[in-house]
Amino acid sequence: MAGILVYAEVRNGAVRKASLEAVSEAARLTKELGGSVSAVLVGAAPANAGEVLGKAGASEVIALAGPKFTQYSGDGYAAAIHKVAAQMQPTAIFVASTPQGKDLAPQVAVLTHAGVASDCVGFTVAGGKLLAKRPVYAGKATLTVKAAESLLVATLRPNVFAQTDAGAPVAVTTREAGEVSLRAVVKEVLAAVANKLDVTEAPVVVSGGRGMKGPEHWGLLEALATAFGNAAVGASRAVVDAGWRPHDEQVGQTGKTVSPTLYIACGISGAIQHLAGMSSSRVIVAINKDPEAPIFKVADYGIVGDVFEVLPVLTEEVRRLRAAS
Ligand SMILES: Cc1cc2nc3c(=O)[nH]c(=O)nc-3n(C[C@H](O)[C@H](O)[C@H](O)COP(=O)(O)OP(=O)(O)OC[C@H]3O[C@@H](n4cnc5c(N)ncnc54)[C@H](O)[C@@H]3O)c2cc1C
Repeated sequence: MAGILVYAEVRNGAVRKASLEAVSEAARLTKELGGSVSAVLVGAAPANAGEVLGKAGASEVIALAGPKFTQYSGDGYAAAIHKVAAQMQPTAIFVASTPQGKDLAPQVAVLTHAGVASDCVGFTVAGGKLLAKRPVYAGKATLTVKAAESLLVATLRPNVFAQTDAGAPVAVTTREAGEVSLRAVVKEVLAAVANKLDVTEAPVVVSGGRGMKGPEHWGLLEALATAFGNAAVGASRAVVDAGWRPHDEQVGQTGKTVSPTLYIACGISGAIQHLAGMSSSRVIVAINKDPEAPIFKVADYGIVGDVFEVLPVLTEEVRRLRAAS
């Protein structure tokens, strides 16, 4: 058994947390499936790549080097990963379900003639086969899929799988990727706002909907996010469509899928398309003045009240608790 190959995505000089989660989940699964976890990254490896990937559960870390790998290229990266997979013959290839991962995974699947399961939120092993769970119909149902081919390519939803650090650091092996033609390369990435925490990565997301009444009241949400210290501010589509907030903050079916430890929905009704993007959050708090609002059906804690009264009190309480701890 060759085990699981995990693509380790590097962003801003560091391996992404979502990739470390994928490595840890792969390590958990190989205990039942057999084999070990190999992490592969393309281009220059961050200095601590062997340490963080080894601790997350990888037994080996391969950095694929090539003069062309200075910027991401879907077809080029897929071709390089395919070469490693052809040698290793893994049971599965895991990729974090980030924008880059969503672009890369299907291209890897085509080259490796594998089945692909996207945005997975759970895995089990039955009869020596890997089964993947993924939400469908905007999160209303969960599908369990098994690859018809011997290899499964899966993308893993960030923040859903636990990252462990029980492993030991490993050395990074650099391999030449060989001749790979790149038909498309990303020339430049323009970050909307520098140092802004992304809703898909933040452990806490404070989201606002039409109940916030206008963009001039977003300071209330930002104050709560600042009080937490590790929170990002999100928005419903109604708010984005109205031009109150940028699209990169939109949570939902046509926005981003988030799975933070804590999601606070403020003045959001809870339409199915919004739930599709946040219902896998670990703890959901909803603040809405309408006790019948659908958001309360998925909320762990519901506050029936006016956001303009509740938010300042909540912010003050979070500040007080954090200062005391
Ligand atoms: C194809 C498609 C894709 C979509 N994709 C998305 C998506 O990705 N993300 C998304 O969010 N939506 C999406 N939508 C839109 C979705 O159907 C809803 O229209 C949208 O989520 C509603 O946004 P909202 O909850 O902010 O506004 P509303 O539905 O208008 O809800 C506002 C809520 O605020 C409450 N409220 C009002 N005043 C206060 C107050 N003072 N204090 C407390 N509560 C108050 C109200 O009781 C109400 O529940 C999509 C729709 C379609 C058709």
